[in-house]
Amino acid sequence: MSDEKIPDPLRAGLAQGWKVFDGAKQVQDLEWRADVLIIGSGAGGGIAAERLALAGLDVLIIEEGGFYTSSDFRLREDKAYPELYQESAGRQTLDKGISILQGKAVGGGTVVNWTSCFRTPPDTLRWWQERYGLTGLSREAMRPWFEKAEQRLGIMDWDVTPNGNNLVLERGCQALGYRHARIRRNVRGCWNLGYCGMGCPTNAKQSMLVTCIPEALKRGARLLTRARLERLQADQGTGRIVKAHGALLEADGLRANGRRFTISARHIVLAAGAIGSPALMLRSGLLDPAGLTGKRTFLHPVALSAAIMPEKIEPYNGAPQTVYSDHFMHTQSLDGPLGFKLEVPPIHPLLASVTFPGFGSEQLQLLQQFPHLHATLALLRDGFHPDSEGGEVKLRDDGGPVLDYPLGDVIWDGVYRSWMVMAEMQFAAGASQVMPLHERAEPATSWKQAKAMIADLPLQPLMAKLMSAHVMGGMAMGDDPTRGVVDDYGRHWQWRNLTVLDGSVFPTSVGANPQLSIYAFAWRAAEKLADILRREAG
Ligand SMILES: Cc1cc2nc3c(=O)[nH]c(=O)nc-3n(C[C@H](O)[C@H](O)[C@H](O)COP(=O)(O)OP(=O)(O)OC[C@H]3O[C@@H](n4cnc5c(N)ncnc54)[C@H](O)[C@@H]3O)c2cc1C
Repeated sequence: MSDEKIPDPLRAGLAQGWKVFDGAKQVQDLEWRADVLIIGSGAGGGIAAERLALAGLDVLIIEEGGFYTSSDFRLREDKAYPELYQESAGRQTLDKGISILQGKAVGGGTVVNWTSCFRTPPDTLRWWQERYGLTGLSREAMRPWFEKAEQRLGIMDWDVTPNGNNLVLERGCQALGYRHARIRRNVRGCWNLGYCGMGCPTNAKQSMLVTCIPEALKRGARLLTRARLERLQADQGTGRIVKAHGALLEADGLRANGRRFTISARHIVLAAGAIGSPALMLRSGLLDPAGLTGKRTFLHPVALSAAIMPEKIEPYNGAPQTVYSDHFMHTQSLDGPLGFKLEVPPIHPLLASVTFPGFGSEQLQLLQQFPHLHATLALLRDGFHPDSEGGEVKLRDDGGPVLDYPLGDVIWDGVYRSWMVMAEMQFAAGASQVMPLHERAEPATSWKQAKAMIADLPLQPLMAKLMSAHVMGGMAMGDDPTRGVVDDYGRHWQWRNLTVLDGSVFPTSVGANPQLSIYAFAWRAAEKLADILRREAG
């Protein structure tokens, strides 16, 4: 691919003098002021930055990750994971039972996500209204915000034929009569490459990196990268956050480089993601009276089933997730055994080799069939069943966050049922072998054999390979401080000049890939915040 042919509008913007500062290059401590400090530049932070900058406010964005642009995205896993992901894509829950993919770069998770877009399911919104008093978040009230985000980010039907990997799911569902549909995507002029998880080299993905963040920068916003917010300082008397303190990082984006920064701002928008945001509040000792901060953090725990298809499907080529089935979301009541959504992840060699069971020659055999390899994932809807309370964000000795997410019976039941469903569906689609991602699984050559094998698998952490790319909750909305940490506009119930605008505000999991829910929620809340701040300024 020739670089000259693909414009890089971000490098052009930098050349025009956008106020972007690399923390790794600062030679002294920084002490800055702003109207609004936004911590994190992902789905929530990006939307907030654009709305608040358009409202004429002096916006400063702080981002722990680096400012990588399309020219840096080389479709290489060995480069992308250390540069663009939290903990080099090796983040795990406390007992290592679930691997967690989260972004760490300007644009956050939106730079590496797989572009699937769903509005918040109506039954989820109803649940939040009934259980958390969030009456402002009805389907009708949220409709305009979804529409704005969809228009802004090019979210629409994807009319290109799905890749071979996704067609397996479509075929299997058709054969068994399961409801299924195509997935809407946030892309403009997509080349259908299939490397979304490594950053989009053509700027087709309408991530925060290429949409809202540049717009904010054009409006004069400042962006400080490779800067890790460590602590918010509050004045207990006034109930306000008065300062934010942090460390500037080395070019590797990991180690502190010895320089510090301190920011004073009228208002703070916390958008460090559903692990980073609660962790910052815990580090700062700013807990809510009901003790909810960091609790009820959800993951849509993902169980996977691999298959070998007789034909080449090249699961690394073509748009990653384009077909889904919600058939098994709706076979039980919302608070019954966990429902699950079926989708198809992209498969690339590095991530596959650390996710697929076995090692050495055994794994080599599987990987030698790479072009024939298919995987289906089941994304479990956690947070509705009374025993599905999610996890808790805790701090490690060095102050870094870790999510303690115990895997209880209700999750294992969902994993087990989903393996069965996926295996049957894969055989119905023509798979010659099927294997759930579990250390003890053997490739099965018939549905009957798979059923017996799955029934015998021990349901234990580390044995079953579980993943997540959707972190939600931990600083949830509620209509009063006993039921939530923030109100339905993300305003913190105690610290009134603090607004949380990221995935941490959801009281349960969303029940669908969350980016569009975050965009819509953040847009609604940021507009309200802009009004308040403009009025306050007179
Ligand atoms: C591989 C992958 C695939 C995905 N696919 C999809 C998909 O297809 N569809 C979908 O809907 N969702 C998808 N998601 C999820 C979606 O991208 C996230 O839900 C969304 O980006 C979360 O938004 P957020 O604002 O909560 O946080 P993030 O987007 O994670 O942004 C938080 C930002 O804050 C920064 N930060 C954290 N701590 C600090 C600190 N202390 N100081 C300064 N900065 C800090 C982080 O570096 C990060 O950039 C995917 C995610 C991944 C990782």
